[in-house]
This record gives sequence, structure tokens and C-alpha cells, in this order.
Amino acid sequence: MASATYDDDNIFAKIIRGEIPCNKVFENEHVLAFHDISPQTPTHVLVIPKGRYVSSDDFAAQASDTEIAAFVRAVGAIARDLGLVDPGYRILANHGRDAHQEVPHFHVHIFGGGDLGRMIKPPQH
Ligand code: AMP
Repeated sequence: MASATYDDDNIFAKIIRGEIPCNKVFENEHVLAFHDISPQTPTHVLVIPKGRYVSSDDFAAQASDTEIAAFVRAVGAIARDLGLVDPGYRILANHGRDAHQEVPHFHVHIFGGGDLGRMIKPPQH
């Protein structure tokens, strides 16, 4: 399977390389997490793999089992450390055009810190 083309100049690649600062909440060998620069909920954290994966599809198809396990474990640990397990939280990954993915480096959003409403509000067509 051809892998998606990764843009090494995307903003999250620059954050991983330390060329752009971030408000870091977690880091290990495989994963980095930081507060979203434009939070949409009281707590809004982005979790990214350090590997070069364009999207959730690319990550699911190409990442190693070790990277995938590390990522899923990290998302859980970060939400736990942020105190979100009891009140609840939402995780979300945008893939591609219809989901309005803006940054072409796979990331999961963690939303929390208040009532998030039910699921998503579809646009009116
Ligand atoms: P998405 O639409 O899923 O690709 O979301 C990209 C997210 O990255 C948005 O919520 C942005 O606010 C966020 N973002 C963009 N640049 C930065 C940055 N330099 N630091 C932190 N978050 C960022």
C-alpha cells in the first residue's frame, strides 16, 4: 500500500522538532501532547505521535503495534492526569476534507472541562 505523502513543514512536525514552542502536557518516546492554541472547550489537548503520519488512516495502516499501543495508552493517561475520567471527556480525530482536518499530522483532540453536549452538530445542508 502506498503511504500518504507527509509534509515535514507542517506545524506539528515543527513542534516535535522544537522549532515552534508548545504548552506541553505529556511526552514520551512515541507521543507528544500539548494544549490546543485555540481551545474549543475549557480543556482542549492535542495528542500526536512523534512518527510521520498524515492522518488517522495513515497511522492505522502504517504505524507499528508499539506506536499504536503507546498512543492509545498515552491518550488514556493524559485524560486521567487531567482529571477528566470522572466528569467525562471526548476524543476526536479529523481525517481529510469532509472532517476539515487542518494539520496534516495525525492528532487526537481531547475535549473536557464541562458539559460537551451530545456528539456533533451536523451542518445544515
Ligand atoms: P484539525 O482541524 O483536527 O486538523 O485541528 C488542528 C488543531 O490544531 C486546531 O484545533 C488548531 O487550533 C490547532 N493548532 C494549530 N496550530 C497549533 C499550534 N501551534 N499549537 C497548538 N495547537 C495548534
